[in-house]
Amino acid sequence: MEHQLKIYDSLTREKRLFVPLNPPFVGMYSCGPTVYNEVHLGNLRTFTTFDVVYRYLMHIGYKVRYVRNITDAGHLTNDAGEGVDRIEERAKLERLEPMEIVRKYTDNFHDVCRIFNLLPPSIEPTATGHIVEQIEMIKKILANGYAYEVNGSIYFDVRKFMQKYEYGKLSGRNVDELIEGSRELDGQEEKKNSVDFAIWKSVSPNHIQRWQSPWGEGIPGWHLECSAMGTKYLGKQFDIHGGGMDLKFPHHECEIAQSVGADDIQPVRYWMHANMLTVNGDKMSKSKGNSFLPMELFTGKHAMLEKAYAPMPVRFFMLQAHYRSTLDFTNSALQAAEKGYARLMTAYKALNELVYTKAAAPTVPAEIEEVQKLCKEVYEKMDDDFNTAEAIAVLFEMGKKINSYKEGLITLSSIDEATFNLLKTTFNAFIKDILAIDKEDSTGDDGKEKELMKVILELRKDVRARKDFAASDKIRDELLKIGIQVKDGKDGVTWTMN
Ligand code: AMP
Ligand code: ZN
Repeated sequence: MEHQLKIYDSLTREKRLFVPLNPPFVGMYSCGPTVYNEVHLGNLRTFTTFDVVYRYLMHIGYKVRYVRNITDAGHLTNDAGEGVDRIEERAKLERLEPMEIVRKYTDNFHDVCRIFNLLPPSIEPTATGHIVEQIEMIKKILANGYAYEVNGSIYFDVRKFMQKYEYGKLSGRNVDELIEGSRELDGQEEKKNSVDFAIWKSVSPNHIQRWQSPWGEGIPGWHLECSAMGTKYLGKQFDIHGGGMDLKFPHHECEIAQSVGADDIQPVRYWMHANMLTVNGDKMSKSKGNSFLPMELFTGKHAMLEKAYAPMPVRFFMLQAHYRSTLDFTNSALQAAEKGYARLMTAYKALNELVYTKAAAPTVPAEIEEVQKLCKEVYEKMDDDFNTAEAIAVLFEMGKKINSYKEGLITLSSIDEATFNLLKTTFNAFIKDILAIDKEDSTGDDGKEKELMKVILELRKDVRARKDFAASDKIRDELLKIGIQVKDGKDGVTWTMN
């Protein structure tokens, strides 16, 4: 199938046909977590969004290099680039080494990713592993005149940059208003202008994490990390950069300025921003005290939770909204998602138990057309800026069809075998590879059992085709002895297990 994938680019604010720089390769970067505490469900929504983008791009044939970093230094408590290093602060609080904090919360993040069926990225670079690259990038920006040094810290000179380039386009911020609205912050007196941001920050010797640089000991600026790592692994310009909506400013705005300041090139062809998971309309965030941790969800141990929720229905819940819409986290919405998820999985199970057999009656062209249309539509929805919400609505329609075949309300042989196979491949691809919501079903013995039964029933079909009914009955009877009941319906063979 030819795909006309369109992606909404936050920078130009338009949905454009996706044309990678070097097809079939795609370079994609998404900002990873700052590993100073446990990821909450809000963070997870953003990571899930880019997991589906990654999966879908691969599914339609691209060879994707997906880079998602780990921020293990330099992210200060204030996003404007002031305050103290979050990892350093947490290390003091927990009386651990910063690198112990990093290990602990990186492991936690990976566990959560695994539980929620997120694929590992192709490369997961850490900021502390790329100090050299960051220093090199700072040198370039300095050489081009877009940064200045004060007391061992290097600041990006936004005003100077604006003499030649645009600043604020991505976030739609006006620099004059920003300057007027900015508060006096710690360290700000060092800057020429309050909109300037640190790309290297000098730290005192009592700071545990610090690195040597041409400007003395310090830590890299958070915004610079992503620019340096993105450039290193994907090139000066690459296809897709993602992150949560809250990272548009200042983080991504600064990334653009840094790349343009260093290499005079727009770093990203398609900027993608995932909208926020909210609680009663407020952004879910640790600092607001309205965040949920995955563990709290599985145990139901949280004041706002009525019950426990399993990971796959929660993943499904997130994908039921388009990534550019906000999504409100409520018990009723989660419970509705649980029901929807169960419905879809029932259809998934039924589909994989259906065995197509040709009937004497002719196929029904209208029925064939309907099924083929749904199989096309579900991809069109994804091609429209990864609209998982609408793709899922189509999957529900497909689910209805599957159920009617299963229950015999419509005879399966009213569609031809090729159309049945198309339905099966498409539906399975969405459940397993694209939305990836089948984890519970595919782990453990259950998946194997299904595969095994498929083999046995195929063999039985061959035996029957040879009119060896004695052998066919023997297979059926032996299966029954071990509690597996095989039924020969007019639409094929189904089986149930006690
Ligand atoms: P952080 O570790 O704070 O840098 O956040 C990791 C990712 O989670 C970033 O891409 C954020 O934009 C994203 N994020 C944070 N809070 C939320 C939220 N409530 N909903 C969706 N994404 C979020
Ligand atoms: Zn980033």
